[in-house]
Amino acid sequence: LRVEDLVEESYKRIGEVDDKVGAFLALNEDKARAYAKELDGALGTKDSFGLLFGMPIGVKDNIVTKDLRTTCSSKILENFDPIYDATVVNKLRSAEAVTIGKLNMDEFAMGSSTENSGFKVTKNPWNLDHVPGGSSGGSAASVAAGEVPFSLGSDTGGSIRQPASFCGVVGLKPTYGRVSRYGLVAFASSLDQIGPITRNVEDNAYLLQAISGLDPMDSTSANVEVADYVSALKEDVKGLKIGVPKEYLGEGVDEEVRQSVLDALKVLEGLGATWEEVSLPHSKYALATYYLLSSSEASANLARFDGVRYGYRADNAENLIEMYKQTRSEGFGDEVKRRIMLGTFALSSGYYDAYYKKAQQVRTLIKKDFEDVFEKYDVIIGPTTPTPAFKIGEKTNDPLTMYANDILTIPVNLAGVPGISVPCGFSNGLPLGLQIIGKHFDERTIYRVANAFE
Ligand code: GLN
Repeated sequence: LRVEDLVEESYKRIGEVDDKVGAFLALNEDKARAYAKELDGALGTKDSFGLLFGMPIGVKDNIVTKDLRTTCSSKILENFDPIYDATVVNKLRSAEAVTIGKLNMDEFAMGSSTENSGFKVTKNPWNLDHVPGGSSGGSAASVAAGEVPFSLGSDTGGSIRQPASFCGVVGLKPTYGRVSRYGLVAFASSLDQIGPITRNVEDNAYLLQAISGLDPMDSTSANVEVADYVSALKEDVKGLKIGVPKEYLGEGVDEEVRQSVLDALKVLEGLGATWEEVSLPHSKYALATYYLLSSSEASANLARFDGVRYGYRADNAENLIEMYKQTRSEGFGDEVKRRIMLGTFALSSGYYDAYYKKAQQVRTLIKKDFEDVFEKYDVIIGPTTPTPAFKIGEKTNDPLTMYANDILTIPVNLAGVPGISVPCGFSNGLPLGLQIIGKHFDERTIYRVANAFE
């Protein structure tokens, strides 16, 4: 088997199905083929190989790639070709993986369905009438559709785990600080993390291994030794203590989703783990806290898109201020504007204490809820989402029901802990996901538990 064949296989599959699925925004064909050839050529000449040698990978379009168009699915960046690679992209290169192309997403990662893309809607490969989830919808759909075996997504409030759940693949949000954010276009800097989306748990551990680590270019990346994730898969779950938050199986959660989690817990019990009901009492405030904080951070981060430095610039503006206004009015979509306005309001003087500061205080309480549970338990388990993938168009007119879909993933980002979604069943032909949440920097234990479902 040659790398060139693997890469060809990937482009062939994209040619066959991507018209329907709509996962990719840009392909990296010439460079991927040339690199594949280079890797094949090196085969006989060296005896150590990159961890992901020759593996085709797709990259979410908010991760910058040198000379390869990076749009964040926004009109405001429709002609933006970065001049450098994100740290994760450099790490993929060191691991000798082959970047196949860039993946569709909700504009600037704001959304839960990929319907907020400024360019196209990605479909769920299991049922094309349904959404793939979001915002990393292209990343999850491309893996589910067999176009690439690996992809990178980003998760600010659930954007890796929720689409992984909807598409029946494995998606991990690492501990905040585990993976460098250098070159990830910032949405909410205190919450954003890049993570791996794959077909199975083993691949996921390999991809996390390749992208993790301290980075001098990201001051929030952590100086914590990178564990051996792959070897965790050899360990069983005997003796592990699992906490199941009652808030995660209550009101609003579909009966079939609930049942699939209870079935998964039975499997773990059979393997020698034990579980008990626990409480994360402040979860009910997580949604409000998240939308205040993430929108506040977004309003500051997105100030840089002004028509001067990157991408789109409105023509015919009479002066500089008009140029800013027109560029941003024409370049940003509705959801992005909604968040910028919400964030600007929450940060404005006179409101700051009532909204932003209060939300920061509640965030601390949410973090403490997790710390309390983790004093006695090794992992926390619940569903990834309250329902399976919804229909395209079903929630587009009601931002609040769209936001509510992230109720079970958001607390994890606010606490900064890692979480994975692994497939755990089906409801009406659509996949369901089990969420396994771990202690800070304890992705190993998450993988041990996740591996029980392989
Ligand atoms: N759906 C959430 C939002 O719209 C989460 C997005 C994400 O994790 N990037 O903000």
